[in-house]
This record gives sequence, C-alpha cells and structure tokens, in this order.
Amino acid sequence: MSRDGGSLFGLDRGSLTAIGAILMVIGIILFLVSATTMMAPSSNPFDFAANQARMDSSFVTAFIGIIFLALGFGALRLGLIRPVTTYVASEASPAIERVSEAAAGGLKKGFGANPLKSESLVKVKCRNCGYLESEDAIYCGKCGKPL
Ligand SMILES: [Zn+2]
Repeated sequence: MSRDGGSLFGLDRGSLTAIGAILMVIGIILFLVSATTMMAPSSNPFDFAANQARMDSSFVTAFIGIIFLALGFGALRLGLIRPVTTYVASEASPAIERVSEAAAGGLKKGFGANPLKSESLVKVKCRNCGYLESEDAIYCGKCGKPL
C-alpha cells in the first residue's frame, strides 16, 4: 500500500483519477456507438433476424459502456474524494494543535501558579533549588540563595 493511504491496487490518486476519466470516456463512446447503431436506418427493415442481431449487439455495447461508466465513476470518486478528506484533515489539525496548546497552557497555569499571587506575575526559577520566585525577588524564598 502507498504511504498516503489513498491508493487502490497500488494506484495513486492521480492515476485513479486519470483511469476513471478514461473509463468514463470509453463508456460514453460505447454508449453513443450503441445508440447510433440502434437509431441508424436499416438497409432492409424486413430482415428481422439481421435487425435483431444488430439490436442485440447494440445492447451488449451499451451494457459494456454502462460498466465502463460505473467503473470510471468509482475510480474518479476514489481519486477525487480522498484528496478532499486529506485537505479537511490538514485544515483541522492546526485547530486541534491550537486547542491542545491552549489546554496545555491552561494546565501549566493551573499547576504552576501560586494561587496567592497574581497570575500575571513573571516567575524566575531558582538555579539552586528550582523554586519559582517572583521576578522582582533578589533572594530565593526557599533556599535563600541570590537569584
Ligand atoms: Zn532556591
């Protein structure tokens, strides 16, 4: 399987779309050929056997045309819909990142902040013991070392 996951029988999206378009064109051509054969004036309207044979072959051509159309449509759908879902996923991921970032920030705030002090106060981490002291402090409030 291809790494992007949008493959079928080892075909990528581009070839699926191209094959789908080609199959649909072949199907339309077969359908038109069968329609013109059916509508073409008969050389001998009283040769029922020949007319019947021509009608039968036209129906077979039309049937094959429908199969080609269906296959082409399926391939086109696979080729075209996958990129849309991928696009939606790539569009949604930054929003998810933002949300998780905000959640992480909120958690950090909730656990790291001293509830007695203002949240807007910038903290300075003591290089000796790791205690979070307010920015304007000169000495560490826990171990007494100068910050
Ligand atoms: Zn300290």
